[in-house]
Formats: sequence, C-alpha cells, structure tokens
Amino acid sequence: MQRRDFLKKAGLGAAAAAAATLVGAPKARAAKAEITWKMVTTWPPKLPYLQTGVERFAKRVEEMSGGRFKIRVYAAGELVPAMGAFEAVGNGTVEAGSGAAYYWAGKSQAAQWFAAVPFGLNPAGISSWLWGGNGLKLWEEVYAPFNLVPRPLGNTGVQMAGWFNRKIEKIEDFQGLKMRIPGLGGKVLAKAGVTVTLTPGGEIFTNLERGVIDATEWVGPLHDKLLGLHKVAKYYYYPGWHEPGTVLEAFFNKKAYEALPAEFKAIIDVACTETYTWMISGTDAENGAALLELIEKHKVQVLPLPGPVMDKLKVYSKEVLDEITAADPIAKKVHDDFSKFQKQIGTWATVADKACPRR
Ligand code: CA
Repeated sequence: MQRRDFLKKAGLGAAAAAAATLVGAPKARAAKAEITWKMVTTWPPKLPYLQTGVERFAKRVEEMSGGRFKIRVYAAGELVPAMGAFEAVGNGTVEAGSGAAYYWAGKSQAAQWFAAVPFGLNPAGISSWLWGGNGLKLWEEVYAPFNLVPRPLGNTGVQMAGWFNRKIEKIEDFQGLKMRIPGLGGKVLAKAGVTVTLTPGGEIFTNLERGVIDATEWVGPLHDKLLGLHKVAKYYYYPGWHEPGTVLEAFFNKKAYEALPAEFKAIIDVACTETYTWMISGTDAENGAALLELIEKHKVQVLPLPGPVMDKLKVYSKEVLDEITAADPIAKKVHDDFSKFQKQIGTWATVADKACPRR
C-alpha cells in the first residue's frame, strides 16, 4: 500500500471513529449514571418479546430514573452461556438476569411452578396467582437460597401443543416419537413413550428438517412462524396443555437489589410489571395475526388434540407432579398453594371467562 493511500485510509478511519463517538455520546443534558448493571439472558439476540422485552425493560428503567440507573443487556452467550444466567446472577458476577423459571429445575424443582405447569393456570390465572395470591411471595422464598430476587417480566400467552408430521389421534401415536419439549411437559410426554430432547431454539428448524427430531413445540404462532416450522411439519396441534400461560422472569442479585435506593427498587418493580403487560398484550395480538397467516397463506392444518388424548396427558401430568412433590417438600408447598388457587379461580372462571370468552 502506498503511504499516501495508507494515510488517506487511516484518516477516514479516524473520522469514522469520531462520528461513532458522537453518535454514541450521551446527550448534553442526560444525567450521569449513578448505577450501571449488567443483565444476562437465556435468549438469542433479537428474539421478539423474550429478548426484546428484556431490552425494553432496561430502557424503561433508564427513562424512569432520568438516566441515573442504567442496565446493559447481554443475550445468551454474549457474556455467559444461556443456562449460566441463574448462577452468574446468584454469585454476583452480574447483577441481573432473565429466563423462564423451568430452566432451573436442576437447581430447584419448585422453580418450575413459576413458569408453566401442565394443565395449570392460564395467563390470566397465573398472573392472579403471582400478584393476587401467594405466587410471588413463594417465588421469592424459593429463589432466596440462591441469592436471587425474582420478578415476573412477561408472559407468552397460551402456547401451542406443537408441530408433528404424524397425526395424533390416540395416545399411542406419541409412542416412539423424538420430540423437543422442555420442562414438566417433557416428563409427561416421556410417560407416553416420547424420547424427549431439549434442542435450543436456534437448532429446532434444522433438527426437524433433517429428522434428528420428529416433532417439536416452541412457543405460539408468532414465534413458530418466525422459525419457519410450517415448512418442515404438516400438523400444528393445540392447545399448549404443557404451557398454558408461560411466565418469563427477571431475577436480581439479592445483595445488589437490596443495596438499591428505594426509588430504584420501585422503578424496577414498575418496569417489570409494565413489561409483563406489554409482552402478554403484544404476543396475544401478534399470535392472532400469525395464526391466520399460517392457516390462510401457508395452508397449515391446525388440529386439536382429541379429548381422550388430553385426558390421558392429564393423568400422566398428575403422576409427574405427584412424583416430584413427594420427593421435594418445597415443591410440595408451592404445588399445594398453586392447586388450591387453581381450584378457587377455576370455579370463578367457569362462570366468568368460560361463560364469556374473548371472541
Ligand atoms: Ca414452549
């Protein structure tokens, strides 16, 4: 390279760097951050609602604090691996994290009740349990030994049962299938003869296309369409019996949270609750549009799981929950409260939601 060219290029580089500094520089009147936190998630970058919801939460905290409290968000793998978030926040490597509580079943079986329970509470029901019942209080109790403070951050709405290339007409049709399904739902399908895998979101499409797995569940019409699952599976079954109203979480290092000034704690709580509302409203609205597109444009066959299949899955679900709670007193305590609440709100829902559906 000629020296003149080199200088020219170096000059351009410097100009670009200066421009970048200007673009990234704080506005003249923005307050200097008093507290800066790192927040690690279990989600891939840009994943709508799940990852973008965490980014939105951080933005709201910054806005509400007038720039005095900043949270920098890292997607899975950017700072710690997806499944390392719980530990990284608990041991204080970073101050905050986000995921779904059923990912931490290996640490605490009871955690799963704060994400999704097969044939459990739907989005409205679980929100009522968390804020109107004992849910959040119990969740705090379950996470305290891990030095964590949990907060509900979102809800995906009712999920779908999943994508299959074989019709599910009787319970035996699950036999021998290799299916991606996490959490308690996976344990239930294992009882029906399914070989359960926990394929990460980013690998589901390829694994289904190549026949590494025969079936999968993911989230709902919006997220499933984005993965392109309709291109590699024929039948789209409902309802998401295994995830009837999955809660997404934020969790904070207990020491870091407790050291916050009262107004910043309040800002975190408000930003979490507001993001929860934004997420459930947004996914619900977009799932409606995506489902219509899957049916009308992509000609996907959307089928209900037959009643007798649902009945059998319900029996297996009870067995799974009984087995876990018999061996784990904390899970039993949470389950007993959850079940009592489900019965109570179920009676009310029979004369309210069910008698007056949304359509
Ligand atoms: Ca799911």
